[in-house]
Amino acid sequence: MTEQLLRVEGLAKTFPGRRSLADVLARRPAQPVRAVDGVSFELGPGEVLALVGESGSGKTTVGNLLMGLMAPSGGRVMLDGAEVGRLSARDLRLLRRRVQMVFQDPYESLNPRMTVREIVAEPLRVHRISASYAELRTRVADALTSAGLTPVDAYLGRYPFELSGGQRQRIVIAAALALQPSLLIADEPVSMLDVSIRAEILNLLSALAREQGIGVVMITHDLSTVAAYADRIAVMYLGRIVEYGPTRAVLAEPRHPYAQALLSVVPVPDPSFRRRPVILRGEMPDPSNIPSGCRFHPRCPLAFDRCPTVDPPLFEVGPGHAAACLLVEEPEAAAEPARRLG
Ligand code: SF4
Repeated sequence: MTEQLLRVEGLAKTFPGRRSLADVLARRPAQPVRAVDGVSFELGPGEVLALVGESGSGKTTVGNLLMGLMAPSGGRVMLDGAEVGRLSARDLRLLRRRVQMVFQDPYESLNPRMTVREIVAEPLRVHRISASYAELRTRVADALTSAGLTPVDAYLGRYPFELSGGQRQRIVIAAALALQPSLLIADEPVSMLDVSIRAEILNLLSALAREQGIGVVMITHDLSTVAAYADRIAVMYLGRIVEYGPTRAVLAEPRHPYAQALLSVVPVPDPSFRRRPVILRGEMPDPSNIPSGCRFHPRCPLAFDRCPTVDPPLFEVGPGHAAACLLVEEPEAAAEPARRLG
């Protein structure tokens, strides 16, 4: 990667917690919810990064922090070298043009009373960008074309209810593109769409990255969704990135047991290839009560004696590939039954 569009350093977000029954009985205050707990990554122009994890892993909160929709509790987000948290109100408005979000549900993202022309023109009006009606028309038409909705005239006067799910998500993407963003945050962009049209939308996002140099952060719970479209993958667990690296390397040889478990349930198109699914025990813990040591240890099938006390950093396991697991440094521990937990 030669230049950085986005740099995230030690990003953290803590929310006030609610007092549980255990807190009341122990007469202690509510524990804060550590939704994001020290996340770092970089993204260059034209790159697609997949942020993958279960519900509750903190990936959507990371997306909201990148958008400047909430202030971080720690760490920082740098966009083109400027720290998002230190921008003036005016510069934050400018930032909102450059960072656009594509939400999960195109049915809810679109105003049913507006035509496609009005929906795509709306962000231009809000940001007072187009000086004339002719310029507005041109930018709306360009955005629709980039989103693959051609001939443009066939769509301009239509309402969302007249469009298919895939076409609606393309309208959402066109409205984001109208502002000519440098970064797109796509939060579960295809999870509400029919399986048959998911690939079209993912192809579109990856083409926009390649052809227009837009950085794309794709947030998803489904590792199989991103396998063919992301340049790099960051696997999140309980507010942290636990594995990070080029897509090919992470998929070919995941090093963190959580990434291995996620990958073990991804369907493989070759019927002769059998992969044994790894079933994790229990649920993801509450982020107001993060386990000691390695936060994955209560669910980890390979946990050993050091795991409840040592919080592993990201260890480099290959070029640009890192995993936060003590087995990277101490692989022999997995083969010593006396040291295994559970
Ligand atoms: Fe599992 Fe221990 Fe590695 Fe954590 S450090 S992922 S508990 S083996």
